[in-house]
Amino acid sequence: MLRRHLVERGISDLRVLEAMATVPRERFVGPDCRSRAYDDGPLPIGEGQTISQPYVVAWMAEAVELGREDRVLEIGTGSGYAAAVLSRIAGTVHSVERHAALAEAARDRLRALGYANVHVRQGDGTLGWSEHAPYDAIVVSAGGRRVPRPLREQLADRGRLVMPVGWGWRGQSLVRERHKGPGTFTREKLGRVRFVPLIGEAG
Ligand code: SAH
Repeated sequence: MLRRHLVERGISDLRVLEAMATVPRERFVGPDCRSRAYDDGPLPIGEGQTISQPYVVAWMAEAVELGREDRVLEIGTGSGYAAAVLSRIAGTVHSVERHAALAEAARDRLRALGYANVHVRQGDGTLGWSEHAPYDAIVVSAGGRRVPRPLREQLADRGRLVMPVGWGWRGQSLVRERHKGPGTFTREKLGRVRFVPLIGEAG
């Protein structure tokens, strides 16, 4: 997986590759999907949701430019896999999941695997998690029409946000926004992706 799906497709950040090498993806999917855990594709995790494709998890982790001490917010915990990867690269990860059953399963799984710097909450991630803001990095693991305003507001000075933005059958553009000063952001489009929809009040 590392060589074929990540390095050969341009992932070069060694800390991202190391995290991808150590987080056991097979522990984040059901027993029926274990044999496919290292294929480069999404897999079902229940509630009509999917664990993201490894390449896309690595791409987002690299694009959000994590420092060792960074405080990260992830929206869309799902299985907890991306949160586990991010937690190996940054300081702490706060992750919000809309489905209670998925949030609970992810919390139990992350605890059992020893990812003590990941905190999971059930809730509407389009509103962020203001108690722990500001965040140096925000990763949105579901696609929406626009970046929710509360997420921009919870980004630290010089913070980065990565999110699939767009709607419809063509999927989304993976977008990176950088906080440049009070109320000022720059935006780059990084490429095409296809994520499940971000559903929420500010989505
Ligand atoms: N990062 C996950 C994959 C996420 S799939 C992993 O590694 O397994 C996207 C997830 O976003 C789904 O679980 C979906 O329920 C969740 N989601 C969608 N809208 C949301 C919202 N407003 N707040 C929080 N989670 C949301």
